[in-house]
Amino acid sequence: MQDPIVGIDLGTTNSLVAFADARGPRVLGPGRGLVPSVIRIDDGGVVVGERARVERAHHPHTTAASVKRLIGRSAAEVRDAGAPQGLHVVDGPRGLAAVGLADRTLLPQELSAHVLRELARIASVDLGVAVRRAVITVPAYFDDGQRQATRDAARLAGLEVVRIVNEPTAAALAYGIGRGHRAAETVAVFDLGGGTFDVSILSVIPGDGVGLNGEFLQVLATAGDTALGGDDLDAAIASEFLPRYEAWLGGPPTLHGMELLRAAAERAKCALSTNDRATERLAHAHGFFELVLDRDLLEVLAAPFLERMAACCRRALSDAGVPTIDRVVLVGGSTRIPAVRELARRLFGVEPYTALDPDVVVALGAALQAQVLSGGRTDLLLMDVVPLSLGIETAGGAVAKMIVRNSAVPARATEMFSTGVDGQTAIKVHVVQGERELVNDCRSLATFELRGLPPMPAGIPQVQLDFMVDANGVLAVNAVERRSGRRAQVQVVPAYGLTADEVDRMEADSLAHAREDMHAHRVIDLIVNARLDISWIEDARTRAAALLDTAYLEELEGHLTRLKGFMALAERSPGQVDADAFHAAKDALDRASMRLHEAAIVQSLQSMDRGSKGPVQP
Ligand code: AMP
Repeated sequence: MQDPIVGIDLGTTNSLVAFADARGPRVLGPGRGLVPSVIRIDDGGVVVGERARVERAHHPHTTAASVKRLIGRSAAEVRDAGAPQGLHVVDGPRGLAAVGLADRTLLPQELSAHVLRELARIASVDLGVAVRRAVITVPAYFDDGQRQATRDAARLAGLEVVRIVNEPTAAALAYGIGRGHRAAETVAVFDLGGGTFDVSILSVIPGDGVGLNGEFLQVLATAGDTALGGDDLDAAIASEFLPRYEAWLGGPPTLHGMELLRAAAERAKCALSTNDRATERLAHAHGFFELVLDRDLLEVLAAPFLERMAACCRRALSDAGVPTIDRVVLVGGSTRIPAVRELARRLFGVEPYTALDPDVVVALGAALQAQVLSGGRTDLLLMDVVPLSLGIETAGGAVAKMIVRNSAVPARATEMFSTGVDGQTAIKVHVVQGERELVNDCRSLATFELRGLPPMPAGIPQVQLDFMVDANGVLAVNAVERRSGRRAQVQVVPAYGLTADEVDRMEADSLAHAREDMHAHRVIDLIVNARLDISWIEDARTRAAALLDTAYLEELEGHLTRLKGFMALAERSPGQVDADAFHAAKDALDRASMRLHEAAIVQSLQSMDRGSKGPVQP
């Protein structure tokens, strides 16, 4: 690889660097790759990222954060808007906003340059070559001065900016929107982070066209609120619990106590994105204070913030002058909150995209734009057909294919499934991709659970599974249990991480193993069905034995023993078992059990009869 171009999301709170090659885009660096946009400069040198963030409280006068809020703006403008907390804003050259750090005065671009240099270092280590070129994202509302200041920051960091891309555009690109589309489309990008909310309305330029600024998408309108984010919800939760906390403490908390309460509020909020209820404990010398939050309370506390977001969205929609929105992309950690997703769905009238991690989607899109600009192949993203079959894991590790390879997109399939065990209250759905018959030979895409089912006998719940691959290749899987109405959903981008070679290899593998795979799948199905048959038959036999003669019971026992023998062999060494003979043994038992089932019905009728004779005499 020579002189790669990386994609950088230079964020207010966190920054990331990503790279895209034939395997798709990925975030570079250790862990999730998030680098806090926090910089400490003192006589000891420069510290950037996680360490600067964690140690900030000990070095308040030499640490800067949120400098993106100042970049390219005048000091007067920043003061009017209310300077970010904890930043000492001073007048820089030409009235520009600068940051006072101890006895130094630094421009935001100088501080951002340190973050960019750190990202370039991380990328160089990860890719094993020096990284000198980047696509950098900025908010859609950044003016020329703010964009130029961002370019200057990169230059100071020794990076050539190949292009500045709007953040919402990058987020849409990460989902494959805006490349090679035939028809015009409108896209809403809903970005709710820790401290800010932005909504942008974009329009896809059809075909392979690019707009004036070289993008595939044009920004029609933006709206937002620079003081609205997840942090505000944390503060609202903390205020709600403050009176109880004070009562428990026997007086007002210290600053440290307040911070503990706020942190517990944030943890509870995040837990509620996947659970219905969250309990956080605050440890004190004399015991624990418990903060118990449920979704209803969270939604009450969030309501005023949701209303402000809705107002911004309505403004953006009316400014953009578009009648409908075709796609919605979610960006920012706070869009994991179910009520926020629901708001986006309601306002724009479409199911939002959630397949990608909302914290990294902008960086992934920047990396894809970088790949386009470096002349790398991009055809992998243009999914006209589903490259590999999509399906789910069924009992015993077999795969039920839902959408077969080479289906044209958009593609859709619906199937009914049920449970294999009595009283099951949760069903795990495992979505896989590949041509082989067994889960272990396919690629796992996602798992999710349909929970809260009322206990029912095996085979009774009716689970409807819907697979939908849309024009951008995003797969949405919906599961609904029809009796209880319980639902669950997951989204994935099946094309990411696959090269054309891998697709070819997986197809060739499936041909090479076709026979043995078919055999294995058939044996698994036989085991699952035989187990159900045996349990029903043994159960009926216990109930109806009195009505049957010994010769018949012996014949039945013979069939059961034979089938159990096949099952034991199939479980021990599936390759050895003769599937036809196994099948015949199961059929023989099924036929022989007809008399038993009739007897079981007679037996049930008799016991109902006995039961209806009126009250038992004393
Ligand atoms: P960002 O600025 O995009 O990194 O978003 C950070 C915000 O997302 C913070 O307010 C977090 O509390 C919030 N956040 C992160 N994960 C979750 C989650 N699982 N549920 C709700 N909010 C979250």
